[in-house]
This record gives sequence, structure tokens and C-alpha cells, in this order.
Amino acid sequence: AKQSGRNNFQFFTVELNEQLQRRFMIEQGLRKALSAGELSLVYQPVVDSRHSQIVGAEALLRWHSEELGHMSPSEFIPVAEDTGIIVAIGDWVLEQACMRAARWRRTIAPNLVIAVNLSPRQFNDGLVERVAQCLQRSGLDPRALELEITERLLMGDSETLLPMLNALAAMGVRISVDDFGTGYSSLSYLKRFPLHNLKVDRSFVAGLPDHHDSVAITQAVVAMAHSLGMHVTAEGVETAAQAEFLRSIGCDTLQGYFFSVPVGALAYEETLARVADF
Ligand code: C2E
Ligand code: CA
Ligand code: CA
Ligand code: CA
Repeated sequence: AKQSGRNNFQFFTVELNEQLQRRFMIEQGLRKALSAGELSLVYQPVVDSRHSQIVGAEALLRWHSEELGHMSPSEFIPVAEDTGIIVAIGDWVLEQACMRAARWRRTIAPNLVIAVNLSPRQFNDGLVERVAQCLQRSGLDPRALELEITERLLMGDSETLLPMLNALAAMGVRISVDDFGTGYSSLSYLKRFPLHNLKVDRSFVAGLPDHHDSVAITQAVVAMAHSLGMHVTAEGVETAAQAEFLRSIGCDTLQGYFFSVPVGALAYEETLARVADF
């Protein structure tokens, strides 16, 4: 027993050591990812549920590291947030996404809306100014930019957050609550902040249209959002049955593999050009 106990302990330390090592490599890799040109954006179409037309896209970050290969955002974003590197990376994401969206609106899709994810760490002093600069440099209409924030952010210190969100909303930028329903039970923040859109988390969409709890929750979210004057996006739509159900309960926009996986800018542009009647 003693023998195996010691082996377990050794195994444990080896594994922990490997985890720390990997984290260290991710951190090192992230520090040069921007300047090394290893980051890119992909775009996932957002579809109007009633006309099945593309009305926009969510920009999603991709990292191909020279040392680590393709890295999943769910692995590297938390490290980028812990270390603060997300602030510089987030600025780059915003800049790229606004530039692309402005070009697409000028050329093929005049009403396109681009959604960009913002980490809570990005809500520091200069944020409002940096967003304004991005819009100015790209020439993007503020109403074409939707910033996706987390419930976690809304539960934090509203004394500093509220003025920032109010300033962004006053510019015309739309604020969207990502992964809605997964974070916190309190909904009081919905009244306190200028919010335009709720994104129903894909864990609820996955249960549609058969799972009773998922049906009840998505219906309630749509009804509540609409009565508060907000739109609803469903994410993680993977089947025709899910899309049809969400359309039938009045969910405004849909996003998921059923329509398209996130694709590179050129592929997204080609899709737009094929369906450019909006
Ligand atoms: P998210 O914002 O909730 O983004 C949706 C995620 O679901 C994306 O994963 C997308 O590829 C995936 N997805 C889309 N449709 C489907 C579907 O039908 N089924 C399933 N199973 N998944 C679907 P991705 O790109 O790996 O991103 C993971 C998370 O990383 C994002 O979740 C977001 O929280 C974060 N992230 C990605 N890009 C950025 C960024 O530029 N900035 C920040 N701060 N976070 C980002
Ligand atoms: Ca998102
Ligand atoms: Ca989400
Ligand atoms: Ca998520």
C-alpha cells in the first residue's frame, strides 16, 4: 500500500508539473502571438430566424502557435485573461473586426452587424475611448457593433461599469449578454444596465425541442427579453428542429453549426456574396 501511495504521489507531481509547464508555454507563446502574426479571426454567421437571412457575424479568435500548434480559445483565453495579455489581444480583435465589418458593409452587406467578445479585463479606463477610436478609424457605424459581455461582468462593481456601458450605448453600440442563463440567478442587473441582446447559452438550445426544462427556459427568456425591449439570439443551433422551434417562439436571431461553423473572412465573404439580398 505504501509503495503504491508513493507511486500515486509521484504520478501526481509529474502531472501537475506537466500542467504548469503547459501553462507556462501558453503564457510565453501568447506574449509573442500578436507580433508573430499567429492570431486570426473567424466569423460565424448570425441568421435572422424569420427569413433565414444572414444579418451579421460573431468574430471568434483563433491562435496557431508555432510551438503548440492550433490552440482552442477555451484553453488560451483564460490564460490571456489571468495574465492581462487579453487587453492587447482584445484591442487587436476589435480593430480587425471593425475593419472587416466596415468593408463588408461598404461592399456587399450594408446592414451587417458584427459581434465582438469582450473580456471583463478589457473594462478598464481607456475602453470607451479605444472603442470610439476603432469606430472612427474603420468608419464603422456604431450601430453595427455589438459587444458581447458576460453575466460575471454585470455582477461586479457597477459603479465603474455602468458609466462605461452607458457611454458605449450612447454612442449607439449594442451590448449583448453572452452565455445567458449560465452564470447567476439574479436578474436585477437586466434593469440596471443598457442591454440590447441576450444570447441564450447553447446548453439550453441543446435540449430543444424535446427536453421540457430547456423548452420552458428558452420560452421564458424570449418572453422576458421582449417585454424588456431586448432581442434574443440562440447559440449552438445544430438541427433544423431546433431552428424551427426557436423561430416558432419568436427568438430573433440564430447561430450555430446548423447554419455554419465559424469560417475565415474570405469564406464568410463568399457566403455573403451568394445571399446578398439584404
Ligand atoms: P462563445 O463566445 O460562447 O462563442 C461560441 C463558441 O461556440 C465558439 O467556440 C463557437 O465556435 C462555438 N459554436 C458555435 N456554434 C456551435 C454549435 O452549433 N455547437 C457547438 N457545440 N459549438 C458551437 P470557440 O470559437 O472555441 O470560442 C470559445 C470561447 O472563447 C467563446 O465562447 C468566448 O468565450 C471565447 N472567445 C473566443 N474569441 C474570443 C475573443 O476574441 N475575445 C474574448 N474575450 N473571448 C473569446
Ligand atoms: Ca460570444
Ligand atoms: Ca456564448
Ligand atoms: Ca461560451
